[in-house]
Amino acid sequence: MPQLNANLPFPPEAVHVVTDPESGLEGVIVLHSTRLGPAAGGCRVWRYADRPAMTLDALRLAEGMAYKNAMADLPLGGGKAVIRLPDGEFDRVRAFEAFGREVEKLGGAYVTAEDVGTSVADMEVVRSQTSHVAGLPPANGAPGGDPSPWTALGVFVSMQKAVRSKFGGDLDGLTVAVQGLGHVGAELCELLHRAGAKLVVAEIRSELAASVACKYGAQIVSSQAILETPCEVFAPCALGAVLNRNSVARLKARIVCGAANNVLATVEDGDELAARGVLLAPDYVVNAGGIINVCAEYLGWSLAEVEARVRASGQRLMSVLDHAEETGLPPHRAADALARARLAQVQRRAAA
Ligand code: NAD
Repeated sequence: MPQLNANLPFPPEAVHVVTDPESGLEGVIVLHSTRLGPAAGGCRVWRYADRPAMTLDALRLAEGMAYKNAMADLPLGGGKAVIRLPDGEFDRVRAFEAFGREVEKLGGAYVTAEDVGTSVADMEVVRSQTSHVAGLPPANGAPGGDPSPWTALGVFVSMQKAVRSKFGGDLDGLTVAVQGLGHVGAELCELLHRAGAKLVVAEIRSELAASVACKYGAQIVSSQAILETPCEVFAPCALGAVLNRNSVARLKARIVCGAANNVLATVEDGDELAARGVLLAPDYVVNAGGIINVCAEYLGWSLAEVEARVRASGQRLMSVLDHAEETGLPPHRAADALARARLAQVQRRAAA
C-alpha cells in the first residue's frame, strides 16, 4: 500500500480492496469524502504495474472527485473505483457483477459510473447487482448514458472563457492541440472544429486519429510531439500526469484546458507553468460535465438542469481565475484552496 499522509487536510475516509479470484477482478474503491453526499466517481479499468500503483491512482482520482463535486456545487462527495486489467483473459461480465456486489455492500456510500476503460454496457452489468450506479442508457429523454459529451461541452465552454481571458478573443483561427481522441477528446474536436479552431491531434489508437483527421482536417502528430506543437491551447484528454518536470519546459501552448484528470504530476509543475506565463485551467473545475450528468441521472434532475450546470463551467473557471488574481496564487492552488474551504465549511457546519 502507498503511504498515506495523515496530515493531509482531508485524508480519504475509506479504502476498500475488491477481489474476486473467480473472475480475475482486482481493484480498489476509495471513498475520499462523503461530507457533501455519497462519494461519486467513475470506475477506471487500466493496466497497472502492481497493487500499490493502482491504489495510488485511485487515491489521487478520488480526492480530485471530492474537489470536483464540491466546486460544481453538487450534493455529492468524492470517490473512485479502479480495476487492474489482468494480464491474460478474464471474464468481464463476471468481474463487473462482482464489482457491482462490492458497490452494493457499501450501501450507497459510493456511486459508480463510467471512466477510462469502462462503458455503458459494463454499467448495465453493475446495475444487475446494485442501484448505486449511473451512466446507464437514458430513459425517456432523462439524463443518462455516456457522460463524455457533457464533459467535452464543459471543457469547451471553459476553453472559450480561458481564451477570452488570455487573448481577448474567441477560438476562431486558433490552434488547439488535443491529446487523446477517446470519448471526450473526439467530441471536443467536433466542438472546436465548429468554432473555427485548427486542430493538431495525438492518439495512440491510429484509427481514432485517422477518423478525426478525416472529419475535421486535423494534423496528426505523435504523443510526444503534441506537447511541443506550436499552438495557443493544449487540451490533454488522455491520461493524467502529462505535465511533469520534463514536459512543462517543452510546452508551447499558452493555455492548458482539457478533460484529463490529475494532469499535473505535482503541484510544483503547476507552479512552473504559471511562472512561464501559461494559464492552466484546473482539470476538475473544467471537466465536471460528466459528473453533473451522472448526478442528474442518479438524483432525477432534468436535461435542462444538466445543460445549464455544464454551461456554467466557464463561469466557475472564471471565479477560480478571479480568486487566483486576488490571492496571487496560481490557478491550480486557487482551485484547491476554494474546494478545501468548501469542504471545511461543511465539516464545521456538521460539527456545530
Ligand atoms: P477514453 O479512454 O475514451 O479516451 C482516452 C484516449 O486517450 C484513448 O483513446 C487512448 O488511446 C488515448 N491515449 C492514452 N494515452 C495516450 C497518449 N500518451 N497519447 C495519446 N493518446 C493517448 O477516455 P475518456 O472518457 O475520453 O477520458 C479522457 C480523460 O478525461 C481521462 O483522463 C478521464 O479520466 C478524463 N475525464 C473523462 C470524463 C468522461 O466523461 N469520460 C469526465 C471527466 C474526466
